[in-house]
Amino acid sequence: MSLDISTLFLVGTLICALLGVMLHHFGRQEKIPALNWWGNAYLLGAITVALWTVLGPVFGETVILALTSAGFIACGMMWNAARVFHGLKPNWPGLFIGAFVWLATVVSLPPEHGALRMTIGAAIVAAYAGLTAAQLSAERRKSLQRRWPTALVPLLHGAVLMLPMVLADLWPTPNSGSAGNVWVMLFAVELVLYAIGTVFVIFMLVSERAVSMHKAAASLDPLTGILNRRGFSEACARMIEREAEAGRPVSALIFDIDHFKSVNDRFGHPAGDEVLKLFAAIVSNSLRISDLCGRIGGEEFAALLPCPIDEAVTAAERVREAFQNCGVEVDDAPVATTVSIGVAGGPAGVVLDVLLAAADTALYQAKRGGRNRVVATVEQPVSLEESRRRAAQSREQHVVVRGGEVGQAVA
Ligand code: GH3
Ligand code: MG
Ligand code: MG
Repeated sequence: MSLDISTLFLVGTLICALLGVMLHHFGRQEKIPALNWWGNAYLLGAITVALWTVLGPVFGETVILALTSAGFIACGMMWNAARVFHGLKPNWPGLFIGAFVWLATVVSLPPEHGALRMTIGAAIVAAYAGLTAAQLSAERRKSLQRRWPTALVPLLHGAVLMLPMVLADLWPTPNSGSAGNVWVMLFAVELVLYAIGTVFVIFMLVSERAVSMHKAAASLDPLTGILNRRGFSEACARMIEREAEAGRPVSALIFDIDHFKSVNDRFGHPAGDEVLKLFAAIVSNSLRISDLCGRIGGEEFAALLPCPIDEAVTAAERVREAFQNCGVEVDDAPVATTVSIGVAGGPAGVVLDVLLAAADTALYQAKRGGRNRVVATVEQPVSLEESRRRAAQSREQHVVVRGGEVGQAVA
């Protein structure tokens, strides 16, 4: 089967231009600057190849030089797109260095060194492909098995470009004319496959990122920025599993801000929201980086610590004290901020709901005991049903006590 080189280049150019427009469209729609960079690279590449095929023979050496330099800039844009995608700034000198090296090569090497010029040109493209591969696979080395195409596609591109140069050096063929044509044809086919393969990789990366961003957003509480109930449960399950493997205990803390309704009633809901944000910040700052905390209800927060219960009680005391002394003021009037905390410890591999139910029971004991205090369960958590029964019992008693408080206040 014989393929016409001009047709191949025409098809390649059209595919690149279409992909460039598509990348631009999605870049603008999804507000992803890296996609605009990739789109520009494709468009510049397509324009370069089109002009080179159509106008090259008419204008000769100078136009070819300018177009090849533009082609190297397109390669630099592919690399910069990968940088921008990973949150780095574009590397402007790096964008143009390939073109400068090429210009210097052409100026300093006379035309009879055509083979060496070709090798240098291919090496520039291969270097950009290598940089792109390194950048694309750098961010998440952990999941590299799933990400192998991100490195493989540009690496293959660089290798295919360099292969004929290396082979030509090793086995110079006397019939270089027809061999050269075969390579040009292979280049054209490879270029098209590379363009399509790279778009596949780009969309794989973009969709992976979108999924992880949505997942993270679904796990966070928008008001306080810490984990919500769902995110907290998922993170806790992972921590309990990890600690269970090492046979280490974990402890749960449940926080409930005292008389929070009266903060809302006296100072308004926005002021209440500010107190919630402040409390979330205090909990996050008072715990270790390895601890987990989340907002599990309106003014209820929880934490899971990979430590025995006595250490968890110390951490709870730290939070209680910090919140009491945080000095919140509304309209220059101090607002009393206190929190009641229930703490429960469990053996390695304890079920999260059982541990939280035990901490909940302790929390209501703290409320019953007068608030602004830390209460730890003395017993080990038992079954979920038993824990829930005890928590419900504590709550009922708490309602009775609160009823008594109200009654006295009214009287
Ligand atoms: P206790 O000391 O017994 O815990 O009393 P409390 O007033 O803190 O408890 P209660 O359950 O009676 O009231 C909780 C209040 O929390 C009621 C609700 O309006 C308020 N709340 C829940 N979510 C939010 C929120 O997102 N923002 C604000 N500002 N308030 C909230
Ligand atoms: Mg509450
Ligand atoms: Mg409360």
